Amino acid sequence: MPVRTPALSAATRQLVVAALAQRPRGFLTDIDGTLSAVAPTPDQARLYRGARPLLRRLLGEFDVVAAISGRPALDARRLVGISQMTYIGNHGMERLAPQARRPEIAPDARAYQDAIADALHEARERLRTREGELLFENKGVTASIHYRRAADPEAARRAIRRALDPLAQRHHLRVTEGRMVIELRPPVDRDKGTSVRALVRQHALASAIYLGDDRTDEDAFHALRALRAEGACIGVAVAIGHAEAPASLLASADLTLASIAEVPHVLRWVLQTLQPDAPPQ
Ligand SMILES: [Mg+2]
Repeated sequence: MPVRTPALSAATRQLVVAALAQRPRGFLTDIDGTLSAVAPTPDQARLYRGARPLLRRLLGEFDVVAAISGRPALDARRLVGISQMTYIGNHGMERLAPQARRPEIAPDARAYQDAIADALHEARERLRTREGELLFENKGVTASIHYRRAADPEAARRAIRRALDPLAQRHHLRVTEGRMVIELRPPVDRDKGTSVRALVRQHALASAIYLGDDRTDEDAFHALRALRAEGACIGVAVAIGHAEAPASLLASADLTLASIAEVPHVLRWVLQTLQPDAPPQ
């Protein structure tokens, strides 16, 4: 497939090229909505065609390739299917190193596993009349309630918040929202932004490119831009546009792709910029 140069402003292009010229450099990415089209349920998600070979090639060109997801880390690795990558799961509560058998779970988050399970169970009881249109997912150190299947998603969202907010308060948990999903999290200072900072620090990254499509990715975007302002790392935040994209996501990104369909083109362009002599694939 011929490599198509993405339509970037001169300043953005310069930023990306400057980031690519650094070592060590990191390629950090969300999964759902970024490497896989959003599916009716998390189990049905699949990487788009050609994503896996592109990620394998990126492994050869970047010093760190990491997926940072709301999924549990093992589930993230199962979906992506590349054991050489690093997986940060549950919004930064878990880290699965390349080839590792199991993830390290942040001790401060682990302490809330029972509270997460109890609150989710109670929420399910309270939302029993909506059972058919909701999907309850206990992910260990976080939990999700998906409402993508609801006939009236906004009504479902409000009902979930009414049920969940008092429970979260009672169990000392946080509630966050994403694409047709509401999540319960431990009240610890860990998110995709702290995950990005930790990866940059651990690997002394001089640059990092991050791709994401959702509200929870904004934390990563803010972290990258702050790192850049601090002169610590040339961070580049790439938003994936879509009909449900919040304006704040696009506003906090350095560049926005029109849709997930643009991602493979941009990755091929990145690879070609790094390996100008390699034949296009
Ligand atoms: Mg996503």
